[in-house]
Amino acid sequence: MNDNEKLVEELAGKIKTGEVQPWKTESVLLEEYDASAPDHFRTAALSRRTCIEELTGHKFNYLELPDKPYLMQWRCPKDNSIWHLEARDTDTACTRCGSALEPYGTEAERFRPLVNNYIGGKEEYYSYAGQIKVFGDVDKTFTNILAYGPGFGSIGISVGCFRVNKLGGAEVKVGRWAGAARNLGYIFESEEEREKAVVAAKIFLPELRKEMEEKFLSEFRGEIYEVEFVRRQHHGQFYIYICFYTRFEYARGHGDTSSAVGFARGRMDAEFNEKGVAYTQSLIAMGFDGDLKPSPRNRRGRYVSAQVKVPIPAYEKMSKTGIDKLMSYMEIDRQGVMQEQGGFVYSGMGGEIIPALYRGTKVNPRPYNVSCTENVYVEIKGNDVIFGVELPNLEVGAASNREGLICPTAREVLKFMGIGTSKEFAAAAAAITLAGEFNFALLHLRGEMYAGK
Ligand SMILES: [Zn+2]
Repeated sequence: MNDNEKLVEELAGKIKTGEVQPWKTESVLLEEYDASAPDHFRTAALSRRTCIEELTGHKFNYLELPDKPYLMQWRCPKDNSIWHLEARDTDTACTRCGSALEPYGTEAERFRPLVNNYIGGKEEYYSYAGQIKVFGDVDKTFTNILAYGPGFGSIGISVGCFRVNKLGGAEVKVGRWAGAARNLGYIFESEEEREKAVVAAKIFLPELRKEMEEKFLSEFRGEIYEVEFVRRQHHGQFYIYICFYTRFEYARGHGDTSSAVGFARGRMDAEFNEKGVAYTQSLIAMGFDGDLKPSPRNRRGRYVSAQVKVPIPAYEKMSKTGIDKLMSYMEIDRQGVMQEQGGFVYSGMGGEIIPALYRGTKVNPRPYNVSCTENVYVEIKGNDVIFGVELPNLEVGAASNREGLICPTAREVLKFMGIGTSKEFAAAAAAITLAGEFNFALLHLRGEMYAGK
């Protein structure tokens, strides 16, 4: 073992015991170990990786750590704008005016971390965000490896996890099923013809449902739990939506549901033709099923919530203010979201926290924005305050990667985190979101969020 390997071992041990906070590793190296910039960035990342390996018993095989894991500061001599570029980036021209950028700051000072708590990754910068203990419908401690977008650090979530763990962990409730939906649309020239279609479809439905389940949904033990008929019209055209709702315990089921409904369309067309029902168009009408659109109706995904219980005096001490201030903080946020967005999509910071998990694990569905909505809630029960988040329609493909390949790096991240099933993914998502929100609310109440210096 060479000196640097010994140093990494020593620091990993200190991070594990809590003697060194993971996000302070860089500054500890500079101040207490006489390390020099920018080499200390790699040593710090290695120390966190070693700590994670020791905590989980797994080894990193795919999540790469580059030789120069840091950014450098540059300045445009013409317009004085300051630039942050990753060290391996050789394109050092100002994109505003085209001038060649010049180094900014002294050789020792122009380096910055790629992201707080960086542990590896080139296309995505992965961070270690502590561990979170959950109990209830899932009992586990997740080791959080997240990939944040720009402008979002991991410290808030790490600190939040630390706080929630200290309070006993997050209690999670995970819905038994994940739902999927796909809609069949028909267009008719008259209301009479449409009514004939509804009658014929309802008679045919029991047989069709059975065929759909056997052919397409049985592999993951999926079932059709509801078929909805809705009538709409547009300027002399008469529509029916026949929406098929499916549910799965350990899969996302979206692709299988789509295939099943595609099959149903062919069977239903034939049935209408045989019964003399005249439609002008039959189609998969995806607007109604809400495909890749966030919906407050929870047509898709799985419900999960996570909450933590704190005695009111303890919360008041932590937030340095009275409990009423928490209630009014929640209300001003709730009104802001409801009135400006017309309904909740995300309250709180979920719009940034939840994508960090999707980016890191790359499970389906990839479009992070629409993968679930979030609601933050606070309740007073006796002498306790309950702080919680619910994700009413979290979509999870951890157990259905046939719907979209998951790269080895992301599968490795899932393994390190301790996520094996879609239910565990849901529990981790809710607990991490709770940790972030819990900490953000405290910072806001103390006036420490975005505090200008
Ligand atoms: Zn410029």
